[in-house]
Amino acid sequence: MTRTLLITGGSAGIGAACARLGAAQGRDVILTYNSDPAGAEQVAADVRAAGQKAQIVQCDVAQPAQIDALFAAIDPACPIDLVNNAGIVGKTASIADLTPERLTNIFAVNVVGAILVAKAAVAHMRACGTPGHIVNVSSAAARLGSGNQYVDYAATKGAIDTFTLGLADELAPEGIRVNAVRPGLIETDIHAKGGEPDRLARLSHMVPMRRAGTADEVAQSILWLLSDGASYVTRTLVDVAGGR
Ligand code: NAP
Repeated sequence: MTRTLLITGGSAGIGAACARLGAAQGRDVILTYNSDPAGAEQVAADVRAAGQKAQIVQCDVAQPAQIDALFAAIDPACPIDLVNNAGIVGKTASIADLTPERLTNIFAVNVVGAILVAKAAVAHMRACGTPGHIVNVSSAAARLGSGNQYVDYAATKGAIDTFTLGLADELAPEGIRVNAVRPGLIETDIHAKGGEPDRLARLSHMVPMRRAGTADEVAQSILWLLSDGASYVTRTLVDVAGGR
């Protein structure tokens, strides 16, 4: 049985690449967006052009009621895998710049939102009777710390790594595998949204492979972790970071 891919933040970047690759591999897709319905419509059109079904749901993962509404919109009998991908960065900052509002916002999206989405996905899997698998999208920042860039973002991804390990332990007996990918510098709009459109050009020389990665290169690892080819892989943090 082919499980449907549920992708949070599927309207752009890595999430959109997962939707397109998943469709090419014969998966139906449920993708969420927060602020970009046009982006979500374009990704859904690409999924349908590949011959698969696409459902779009608006969901700000920082709003628990919207997570409830997301899962209420999903067919209870539909087996799913979760790409727990939605995330944000703040502007480049040092410790003196970190306000309570900024910290509350980034932890609400990247940590609380991701944990509540995973909680709801597990409840859905249990209710529909088919164990699926989960990939949390962390970051190389969890290892590197991102000093003088955004230590708050790095800390949110450190939390996601730890959450991945513990959740994998909890769910392994049920056949639900939980892994994370840790992308490095990847070509998406997240850098411009965080106020640094030239970030890739400025930092690519620090990557041993001397280039940024693509969203599709990250999607390849995510789709593999969700596939039967990774049937004995759980509790693993996969670096997709060009060697850094
Ligand atoms: P992106 O191109 O900016 O896409 C982010 C996605 O997340 C969009 O679909 C966006 O939806 C959604 N999103 C943002 N805030 C949201 C919220 N409050 N609720 C629900 N969805 C929300 O970023 P990306 O580079 O693909 O990043 C995807 C994930 O990869 C993130 O977790 C990020 O931390 C991680 N990552 C990225 C890199 C990199 O270099 N690109 C490196 C390491 C880790 P809308 O556009 O509809 O608002």
